[in-house]
Amino acid sequence: MISARVRVFLALLIGIGLLVVIVAFLQRRSGYYRSNPNEPTSSASPSGPANPSPEPSSTRDPETPSNPAAPPIGFVGTLNLIMPVAGVHPNQLLDTFTDSRSEGRVHDAIDISATQGTPVVAAADGQIIKLFQSERGGTTIYQLSTDKKLVFYYAHLQRYADGLSEGQTVRQGEIIGFVGDTGNAGAGNYHLHFSIAVVSDPKRHWEGTNINPYPLLKN
Ligand SMILES: [Zn+2]
Repeated sequence: MISARVRVFLALLIGIGLLVVIVAFLQRRSGYYRSNPNEPTSSASPSGPANPSPEPSSTRDPETPSNPAAPPIGFVGTLNLIMPVAGVHPNQLLDTFTDSRSEGRVHDAIDISATQGTPVVAAADGQIIKLFQSERGGTTIYQLSTDKKLVFYYAHLQRYADGLSEGQTVRQGEIIGFVGDTGNAGAGNYHLHFSIAVVSDPKRHWEGTNINPYPLLKN
């Protein structure tokens, strides 16, 4: 009887002892975890501001896929595009972005009417990535934005600016071509077909999601 009680008592003692050891160990571990990140932040102050940022960004990341429209809108708000056709006033623009086109397509672009040969200028700084003769677009230019997130597309050009070449860097306002009616514009329907695509891969300039240039050029 007594030996059984002693055994139970000893087992309890051992259990409590183990608990104390485990708790002490966990406290020390969490203490190390707390102190360790503090050391690099205090010793290296430039990395200090970088350390807190991964935490907020990692909490933002899950939000990004569920709200994909938000980043481009915030992003294009800082674009400050200029009218890609010389002499055209924002008030002359018509929003034709959602107009339907042949074969069930949506326009996804803006048409800017102008007389034949009117200079077409780069809407923003960037790089000419492709000069392409397209059946629909006629003489066309693909321009990548400086941050490589957007592709500007200029179509139905009469011709390119002299010496324009792929890989060339252009500044906003630089003449890159002239308004024409090439491609499927229709003879005498002189206008610039202008679109802006948000691209995930700058090397695949023909892909991407088109955003409406109208509000960006209107303001
Ligand atoms: Zn068009």
